[in-house]
Amino acid sequence: MLLMLPILPALVEPGLNPPRGVRATPRGHLAYAEAPQQALVALDSGIQVRKNVLEQLIRLLQAAERDGVPLKVAAGFRSIEMQRAAFESGAKKKGISLRSYAWWTAPPGFSEHHTGLAVDFADPKRPKTNFTPSSFSKTEAYAWLKSHAKGFGFELSFGQNSGLRVAFEPWHWRFVGDDESRAIFAMARPGRVAQDGVPPAQ
Ligand SMILES: [Zn+2]
Repeated sequence: MLLMLPILPALVEPGLNPPRGVRATPRGHLAYAEAPQQALVALDSGIQVRKNVLEQLIRLLQAAERDGVPLKVAAGFRSIEMQRAAFESGAKKKGISLRSYAWWTAPPGFSEHHTGLAVDFADPKRPKTNFTPSSFSKTEAYAWLKSHAKGFGFELSFGQNSGLRVAFEPWHWRFVGDDESRAIFAMARPGRVAQDGVPPAQ
């Protein structure tokens, strides 16, 4: 069953209130449209990303490799249906309500992954740290991303001081390196402050 979270702008932090007409969850997730199939391209791993991201993402991965930092892409595009399945099974696994689970994962229709512009990174040498805020944030991979991702047009979406009612996601970076991507994330970006010491990308 699809749970549609009500729009309660009063529960969103001041400064992050979406403008009138923009759909958001009480935790501050904004609604995103699914990228059209023709806008997507598959990495060698089969993970799809939006074409805009590809060149800079590959440059970023090559730069990390040159610096001897283990880094891989663990997730990219997710359809609304894929998000629905992940959201519902994740909540069931944790034994909590869908509403509570939205702390950990965006409800279907509200994930930056729908755009194909958000990427989850992982440290292939330390798989236990994957998708674990307290431990991934201590990896060499995260330290490297904090210093270098901005140079490739990526910024941290959900830092420790994001002002949103969602978990810290040190692995989740969105691409804002061109006009189209900046337009897609325009509503998410105003009032952004440096998150976890990561300055916003230009
Ligand atoms: Zn993510």
